[in-house]
Amino acid sequence: MAMSQLVEHVLPKLPYAYDALEPFIDKQTVELHHDKHHAAYVTGLNNAEKNLAKARQDNDFTHVQFWSRQFAFHGGGVFLHNLYWNSMAPVSEGGGSEPAGDLMDMINEDFGGVDSFKAHFNAAAKAVEASGWCALSYRPEHDRLCILQIENHQKLTPWGNDPIFVLDMWEHAFYLKYQNRKDEYINAWWNVVNFENALNNLNMMRQNRG
Ligand code: MN
Repeated sequence: MAMSQLVEHVLPKLPYAYDALEPFIDKQTVELHHDKHHAAYVTGLNNAEKNLAKARQDNDFTHVQFWSRQFAFHGGGVFLHNLYWNSMAPVSEGGGSEPAGDLMDMINEDFGGVDSFKAHFNAAAKAVEASGWCALSYRPEHDRLCILQIENHQKLTPWGNDPIFVLDMWEHAFYLKYQNRKDEYINAWWNVVNFENALNNLNMMRQNRG
């Protein structure tokens, strides 16, 4: 049986300098987070895909459950980290601004305003158990936004939604600077959020909805 032609995933370049989010997100955290943690998910995804291809080639699916889980975990990690870096921007490049355009309209409609959206998002982020994420997500089926908690990189995630903006709540995202003070990390993060990118993501998804 022929091996499928796999194109390896590569770690995308960080869209700004390691220290560009200071003082809110510190340089050392960004450097470790991108170069070590994010990179490990890219390696893990490539490894899972290679092993699933090998299983097909050998027609030996003994470990298909293990590699399927690895694929979901690392694939989720790669997707969410790519989105995380683009969910932030240096203050000099518009980080920390408020939502605009259709994103603002939908936040008003679906959450009753920016303040209640942020209150909901903050509470959901803070309450993420152990390692996980908080996401603002778009549901094409209903043309609606929702806030999700994501456990690890792939659990508690309903089908039919696409995150447009995420906050990493794994300890590696904040522990060096904020230790157990999740509130401080979340509050600091709002100073560098990139709602322009979230709006672009939303517009693209709504256009694809047809
Ligand atoms: Mn992370």
